[in-house]
Amino acid sequence: MSPAMDEKIEPIYQSVIARNPGETEFHQAVKEVLETLGPVLVKNPEFAHYKIIERICEPERQIIFRVPWVDTHGKVQINRGFRVEFNSALGPYKGGLRFHPSVYLGIVKFLGFEQIFKNALTGLPIGGGKGGSDFDPKGKTDGDIMRFCQSFMTELYRHIGEHTDVPAGDIGVGGREIGFMFGMYKRITNQWEAGVLTGKGLNWGGSLVRTEATGYGATFFVDEMLKVRKDSFDGKTCVVSGSGNVAIYTIEKIHQLGGKVVACSDSAGYIYDANGIDLALVQQIKEVERRRISAYADERKSAKYVAGGNIWEVPCQVAMPSATQNEINGKDAATLVKNGCIAVGEGANMPTTPEGVKVFLEAGIAYGPGKAANAGGVATSALEMQQNACRDSWDFEYTENRLQKIMENIHRDCYNTAEEYGAPGNYVVGANIAGFIKVSRAMLAMGVV
Ligand code: NDP
Repeated sequence: MSPAMDEKIEPIYQSVIARNPGETEFHQAVKEVLETLGPVLVKNPEFAHYKIIERICEPERQIIFRVPWVDTHGKVQINRGFRVEFNSALGPYKGGLRFHPSVYLGIVKFLGFEQIFKNALTGLPIGGGKGGSDFDPKGKTDGDIMRFCQSFMTELYRHIGEHTDVPAGDIGVGGREIGFMFGMYKRITNQWEAGVLTGKGLNWGGSLVRTEATGYGATFFVDEMLKVRKDSFDGKTCVVSGSGNVAIYTIEKIHQLGGKVVACSDSAGYIYDANGIDLALVQQIKEVERRRISAYADERKSAKYVAGGNIWEVPCQVAMPSATQNEINGKDAATLVKNGCIAVGEGANMPTTPEGVKVFLEAGIAYGPGKAANAGGVATSALEMQQNACRDSWDFEYTENRLQKIMENIHRDCYNTAEEYGAPGNYVVGANIAGFIKVSRAMLAMGVV
């Protein structure tokens, strides 16, 4: 279980709430980390002296901007753009862009805050940041998407750069959007600066395995947790929420490792296929035709579609939430445990509410929090930056091996840190403390900046 918040840290948390009113997701992400840091201050009093926690909770820079554009019907549209450059102690700010109508400063800050520790855990030289817009890509034409991306980049370009801030994709931002944004950046700056964005196309600076990386990485992380318990994916029934980038490649890797995924979803409902999800069909529907997941049940008679249903009621041994934040509440977590779930790996960011996390930790199941389990995406983005820096491109097998090694190292680091701090098997404690210490040591070395 997470220890209660230390009395020296509680006022810092209260000050975060007071200084950032209404940003509930940000408060939640900060609380989850701060609750685990008490023992770190006991071992490292210099962190308190130099106000490392207070500094980490305050973004280095927050940018909010207007994004005006003209839609297919000639109507003027106005969205809001965000980039929060949270922490650059370990490298240039790095983190994705999210396009979704729910995006506001509190979501961008929760994601940026988590990103600091996640990026530190990869062991690669990347700081933490995040951005996005309240733009809703659903139902938009390619032309709408392009004009929006171009307008978004017309402001963002002045804040980013390969040594400054390197955005990537997230919800609603994939290869198509990165392409439109890269094109506009190149036009404005007159520079072919590959390292300014990651998730690029394979024939113009992208890296093999980047598309698959978050899903593959999360699955490798769960595989490591299972190995500790002398177990494996072989023969396991699995449920993966979402049907976007992370979900698709989680399903692929689980199938490669011998598990069977029987359900996946989108925001309107879930599909259940007792024969195992046919990934090629999901990819055709989601990646090629950009349709809803309900179309799967029209094409596959073994499947049923449950409109508005709760995917966590589908019995499984391994659950991999890969859609969005707070998608598993305390009740869902209890249902999963009751139905025999032994491992949860978070492909999404903060998909489990604090009540849900408590249920998993108390039940003693293997629970891999997002900031560790889904770090494979950003790690492979950093590998894309390495290839860009030396104008090279690596083959699939080599890149996937690098990703797998990185996930093994992250797992080991979290596991050992949890043991060292008296919470064996608690990957929440392990990930938070291991990530925090890496960033804090760098910040200490650089003085008060
Ligand atoms: P995509 O846009 O490719 O897919 C998102 C999926 O989640 C879709 O199926 C979408 O359904 C569903 N979803 C989104 N919002 C909601 C919601 N509010 N309620 C229910 N379902 C929802 O995004 P990604 O796969 O890239 O991202 C998924 C998660 O993984 C996010 O939490 C993201 O932050 C995290 N992540 C992504 C990384 C990456 O490399 N892409 C890296 C690390 C973490 P619908 O189409 O109906 O909206």
